[in-house]
Amino acid sequence: MAIASDHQTQTVDIPLALDGVQLIGGEWVAARSGQTIDVINPANRELLARIPRSDAEDVELAVRAAEQAFPAWRDLDATSRANLLFRWADLVDQHGSDLDQLERQEVGRPSWGPPRMGSQLRFTAGQADKVQGLSLPTHSPDQLGFTLREPYGVVGAIIPWNAPGPMFVNEVAPAIAAGNCMVIKPAEDAPLTPLALAKLALEAGIPPGVINVVTGYGAEAGSAIPEHPRIRRVGFTGSPATGRLVMEACSRNLTPLHLELGGKSPQVVFPDADLDVAVPAMTAGITLNTGQICAAGSRVVVHRSIHAELVDRLAKQMQQVKVGPWHRDVNMGPLINAKQHERVLGYIELGRDAGAEVVTGGGVPQGADFGNGFFVEPTLFNNVSPDMRIAQEEIFGPVLSIIPVDDEDEAVEVANGTDYGLVASVWTQDLGTAVRMSRRLQAGQVGVNSPLGAGVIGGPFGGYKNSGFGRTMGADSVLDWTQVKTVSMRGATVPPQR
Ligand code: NAD
Repeated sequence: MAIASDHQTQTVDIPLALDGVQLIGGEWVAARSGQTIDVINPANRELLARIPRSDAEDVELAVRAAEQAFPAWRDLDATSRANLLFRWADLVDQHGSDLDQLERQEVGRPSWGPPRMGSQLRFTAGQADKVQGLSLPTHSPDQLGFTLREPYGVVGAIIPWNAPGPMFVNEVAPAIAAGNCMVIKPAEDAPLTPLALAKLALEAGIPPGVINVVTGYGAEAGSAIPEHPRIRRVGFTGSPATGRLVMEACSRNLTPLHLELGGKSPQVVFPDADLDVAVPAMTAGITLNTGQICAAGSRVVVHRSIHAELVDRLAKQMQQVKVGPWHRDVNMGPLINAKQHERVLGYIELGRDAGAEVVTGGGVPQGADFGNGFFVEPTLFNNVSPDMRIAQEEIFGPVLSIIPVDDEDEAVEVANGTDYGLVASVWTQDLGTAVRMSRRLQAGQVGVNSPLGAGVIGGPFGGYKNSGFGRTMGADSVLDWTQVKTVSMRGATVPPQR
């Protein structure tokens, strides 16, 4: 692990950052209770802002505001709705650097360059006026049959902290493009980028009440969304444990939902893999955002013939990862909070106790730079057996497990042998292996010689098995926020005899 050199820590004032308020019906308001939650910079625990600590009463107010906004938003022609989203995208691009800094500060990550949220918004806006129904055959020539795609009305979403900006866009944009009005709760650890995005949406001209952002804890404000009987559809991104609670609450109201949950993504490395490409990509795949990415490739399933070489090269590469506070020239920042810090260190202990070998990392980096932050070293475990907890459970930290196998069948069995199925990667130069593995891997996204299944524009994103169901970001994302109505139509007058 490399350590960033200068010693200052820094919290930057960003004009888009809001303090103590949330957005309900176009107004920036406190929680009804008057209580707040501190949002801190995870690199040094400095206070960044306070957010309202809302509960079911605030969610009720947001639902009423959304209900009021809904008829006009639904009836606005689809091209005008699209244009407002395009304008929002322009503002997001204009404020790209501020948004990036805000997200870096609250999540504690180094810069990823200009955010892609503007392009995702444009991709979604382009679908708004392409929501089409079907023309249906009828039993009589005097009758017409067709389907309408209609919005649900007031819909809800709950998002996690690891990429708050993109998560906000992925839920809000398709829902409102379809004509719904949304109540969304960002994560209490990283709500500032979502609030800033909502501010830009208002500035773009998206009417008050179309987007309502209610902040607070999951058990107080979050749970009130799926429990609300007048919220007609829900999108949830987060952990499987919370996803189950959200689904249970939705089931009581018979509310449809999609779930974007966790992963334990395998990276399968064949003997003919180009390790010059694979090793840096796999290292980035587990250290990007400090491993706090649902798609993180956290298991390396490697053919025994190149096992030793791969361990050696991965260890060297992981030791090059520069760790430090977000504002420096580093590759990896801290974990998000104390709970996550304990959890990741706990898994490292579990791995050691189970007999896996720590090749590099395995602890907390030492030095003045790290005193107050939730830092952990990039950690490589060798000789992990597939049934160990570190190979089965999502750690959500920079911890990579290497599992050697003897052939393709065993690789498939190990790769598919968890409850998750979000992303899987294959490293090979053989086309036949690539084709077979693309079919055999149980995952919503498969990347061949590509770490996160990324690099595709408009690829639907979502999970198999316990990684969830439903897809975001694809060409159907707006349709998914609509319901289908079949219309059969006959004129009121009796048809003449033919
Ligand atoms: P989390 O489940 O703890 O929290 C997610 C959100 O749910 C937060 O806003 C939280 O406040 C809220 N919440 C908590 N308890 C709730 C309850 N009882 N009712 C309603 N809402 C509640 O997850 P997290 O720790 O914020 O995020 C990490 C998880 O998210 C990981 O499992 C990761 O894999 C997953 N994730 C998945 C994707 C994806 O697209 N599949 C993307 C990002 C993150």
